[in-house]
Amino acid sequence: MKSKDIKKTVSAKKASLGRVLKKNEKIKKTVKDAASELTLVNEVLKQEKVSVPIMKQALTQNEDVEQKVAKAAGDLKLVNIQLTEEIADRIVIESELANTKTDLAEVRDDLSKAQVKTQEAQQMALQDALTGLPNRVSFEQSLDHGLIQAKRHGWGLAVLFIDIDKFKSINDSYGHDLGDQVLLMVANRLKSFVRDDDIVSRWGGDEFVCLLLEVKQEADVTQLAEKMINRIAEAYEFNGHVFSIIASIGIAIYPADGDTSDILFKNADTAMYKAKGTEKRVVLFRESGEQKTG
Ligand code: GH3
Ligand code: MG
Repeated sequence: MKSKDIKKTVSAKKASLGRVLKKNEKIKKTVKDAASELTLVNEVLKQEKVSVPIMKQALTQNEDVEQKVAKAAGDLKLVNIQLTEEIADRIVIESELANTKTDLAEVRDDLSKAQVKTQEAQQMALQDALTGLPNRVSFEQSLDHGLIQAKRHGWGLAVLFIDIDKFKSINDSYGHDLGDQVLLMVANRLKSFVRDDDIVSRWGGDEFVCLLLEVKQEADVTQLAEKMINRIAEAYEFNGHVFSIIASIGIAIYPADGDTSDILFKNADTAMYKAKGTEKRVVLFRESGEQKTG
């Protein structure tokens, strides 16, 4: 039963219980009146000199009172039956009410579980499963938002495209699982460089992208990229295997290297490929010798 229906039933039951109790009071009054009448009749009969007509009248009255009492006893039986039914109904209603409360608590519980699941799903949709870093979708959102802010406030903004050199050979030499561990470590090393508002994201495979907001000087960005290269190059030790890896970084800075997210991203990628083919590990798009697009 719905809680609205239960409320209706409870108020109907209250009214019918009221009626039964009223009847009970009425019967009690009838019995009380009958008792007083009987006392009066007895007083009359006790008198020594009672005329025959008065005695007759008293006896008739006595019979009337007895009938009233007998009827009251019958009514009382009925009232008792009704009261027993009312109590039984109340027990049923109370248990339904308790069930409804339990159902409501379960619905509430299911709802909050569903909300947690939705939040988790939303979070997963923006996260890289292996490293826990923001994924491509999340990075693109942050870059679009960062560009709007940079344009509004006249700030610089940098996109760094990072790719590990010859990463396939790690997988080939030590296995894919160890390759995963290396990617996770690279992610953690990169993360340690950026401020709270900046972003390091896994683009896919062995590629990472980094977004630096509120860039003041170009040199700050290239120096940070050099530090990243050196940190990534530090030795890795897994299951007794010690090895090092080299990364290449391409940089595009707003506004000099592009003013849309697509162009900045494409130019950072181009600069990264330039870095791969040379001794220079960090290349700024402007210095890559490539023509600016867009
Ligand atoms: P390059 O020097 O030109 O960058 O070559 P590379 O060997 O690093 O290969 P490339 O960047 O073209 O491709 C990345 C490789 O990373 C391909 C694949 O074998 C490996 N890879 C991609 N995703 C994963 C992953 O999730 N886990 C592991 N262990 N390896 C991956
Ligand atoms: Mg690579």
